[in-house]
Amino acid sequence: MAVTISSACISCGTCVDTCPFEALFLGEEKCEVIVDKCRECTKCIKVCPTEAISLPNPTRGKGKKEAKPVETKPAEAKPIEAKPAAQIEKKEATPVEEPKAVGKRTDKFADCEGVWVFIDQTDGVIAGVSLELLGAGRNLADKLNVPLSGFLLGHNVKSLTESCFQYGADTVYLIDDPVLKDYRSESYRDCVVNICNKYKPEIILYGATSNGKDLASAVATDLKTGLTADCTMLDVNVAERLLEASRPAFGGNIMATILCKNTRPQMATVRSKVMKALEPDKDRVGIVIEEKATVQEKDLLTQVLSIVKDTTQRVKLDEAHIIVAGGKGLGDEKGFQLCYDLADVLGASVGASRDAVEAGWIDHHYQIGQTGVTVTPKIYFAIAISGAVQHVVGMQNSEFIIAINKDPDAAIHNVATYSIVGDAFQIVPKLIEEFKKVIKGGEVVNV
Ligand code: FAD
Repeated sequence: MAVTISSACISCGTCVDTCPFEALFLGEEKCEVIVDKCRECTKCIKVCPTEAISLPNPTRGKGKKEAKPVETKPAEAKPIEAKPAAQIEKKEATPVEEPKAVGKRTDKFADCEGVWVFIDQTDGVIAGVSLELLGAGRNLADKLNVPLSGFLLGHNVKSLTESCFQYGADTVYLIDDPVLKDYRSESYRDCVVNICNKYKPEIILYGATSNGKDLASAVATDLKTGLTADCTMLDVNVAERLLEASRPAFGGNIMATILCKNTRPQMATVRSKVMKALEPDKDRVGIVIEEKATVQEKDLLTQVLSIVKDTTQRVKLDEAHIIVAGGKGLGDEKGFQLCYDLADVLGASVGASRDAVEAGWIDHHYQIGQTGVTVTPKIYFAIAISGAVQHVVGMQNSEFIIAINKDPDAAIHNVATYSIVGDAFQIVPKLIEEFKKVIKGGEVVNV
């Protein structure tokens, strides 16, 4: 079956451009349909200005409510804290109608459908990357015309489902059980594998947090499917329903797009701050599907005896608004001090290139780049950093990049908003002097 086009068609071509399956073309008198390609997804019907397109079976989609459109405005994803159950406002949820793919699928994975995102929470706080992935997942799900779902595991975490809907999910699969209070590979893996076998998603995205990476690899092993780690771009080939997971390869010299053609689900991990979260829509609601935990405490080999929190005052680089990063060109630890001096005046965090880390001038937690942290501050100072691709992939999405390098041909200038060519030991002290005149106690006081 396929859509039909009446003589009301004015050959504007809007439907041709909209059809994700290339099933429409401009004929001599009106648009025509390639019946074999049409999946009756109804996108053409929605855009046709003269209502010339219709479905042969008018009952399909009847009574379907349009899922509330989600704005695609990027937003800074803040971690969300779980509210105690007593505080959860009992909103009568108008469930978002699942935008199921219409048209019978005949491909070998026709029983697999939907894009899922792992909602990684610790102590009832959702990791920002999970919200960012709901934004990325929304894009994939819309292209495939399937629902976007979060899957959330933990104990007393039901209130977090609200945030999942606000950030783009249509559905949340929830497993709330004391056995899932703290992350453990065995318990989480068992429960996730169980719901995957039951609901058969076609794509699953995980944040590349320590939990996300661990879970993704355990689930991939159990489900005998592929996993692409640390992706920097995600897209989908709609016709073949293939996730296009791109990431730097061969030491960052090429971008590889990796496909998982023979198994499902297709899975990928993405680091924090690589994708953008959607602007949360407070009125958006969805469907919670509760499942039981498939493991019991007595069956587990590991026990969490205590959790020792990191008590260092380290500012999380991926949350910093201003970063002053230093490179090997600063010569030694004493030279690297220049970064701290500038950071102090600006109230900024300090980061570094890998070579500066390897020289022992700063702890490896502060390394920015492919094998370090990905950052997106408002202002990024790159001081005596050459701009190797492995560094650039970790900071190129900063809003303003100010490069200070004595080599006019250094690659860092290619990504810089402002380039200062010269000796950092002369330039940075001058910047500090000038900033001190206008910034007091972290506030701009005199411009
Ligand atoms: P250099 O390349 O030595 O550059 C120093 C720069 O300082 C030069 O451009 C020079 O012109 C300039 N300079 C010197 N003196 C002065 C001065 N007085 N004033 C101003 N400018 C001056 N690197 C990362 O940073 N992060 C990563 O996550 C990372 N991951 C990697 C992963 C792999 C698999 C590999 C192979 C490499 C990785 N690297 C990473 C290393 C990366 O390739 C570069 O070697 C590294 O970024 C270079 O560091 P740098 O720019 O500080 O040093």
